[in-house]
Amino acid sequence: MSPFLIIVVAICVLKNSVAVRIDVDTSQARDLENLGKQIKSTLERWYPYLSDQLYSSTYEDVQVIPLYFDPSYEGVAYAKGRRIVGAVDYYRKNSKDIGSMIHEMVHVIQQYRGAPVWLGEGIADYYRYYHYEDRRLTKPTKDNKHTDGYGTTAFFLNWVDQNKQKIGGRSMIYWLNKDAREGKYTDNIWPKLLGQTVQQVWQEMMQKA
Ligand SMILES: [Zn+2]
Repeated sequence: MSPFLIIVVAICVLKNSVAVRIDVDTSQARDLENLGKQIKSTLERWYPYLSDQLYSSTYEDVQVIPLYFDPSYEGVAYAKGRRIVGAVDYYRKNSKDIGSMIHEMVHVIQQYRGAPVWLGEGIADYYRYYHYEDRRLTKPTKDNKHTDGYGTTAFFLNWVDQNKQKIGGRSMIYWLNKDAREGKYTDNIWPKLLGQTVQQVWQEMMQKA
């Protein structure tokens, strides 16, 4: 390899070196140590891809994400700031559910300010199901709404991504994420970028999907 090529390669590697360290704390549940290691390597492997997918100019890179397994928490998992907490009881019974941790890591990456909950939860589940798990969710029913969040909104966002025109070469999800992170999200972004209200896009999805 010529010295010139070596320099180019070195610069490329540096530019893409967005690594994160997941600090897993299983001190309150020693039996989750192996699962903790598995989650650590999965999240560390997926962070560069997800932070790149969810990149926008105000994104602040994350170096370390503490992940604590809490024996007194009775839900599944949550993210607060840059920290993730998993329920010991849940992960003892659902040791295969690493996708739920991908969902939480998306929350850490989102850094949204004042965005509606359905949007944050929908985007987190979109990356969990359509990118990490490569799973196709079932179509929402007529009782659902785009504001239901989670899998319902994830299905909707995936349909939008697959069926609506790109704006400035980018998916609608990019623009939603950008505005949410910048504290600027309002429903006006839908007519502004797609020429339809969010309700109209939802109705179209319900007819055509
Ligand atoms: Zn969530």
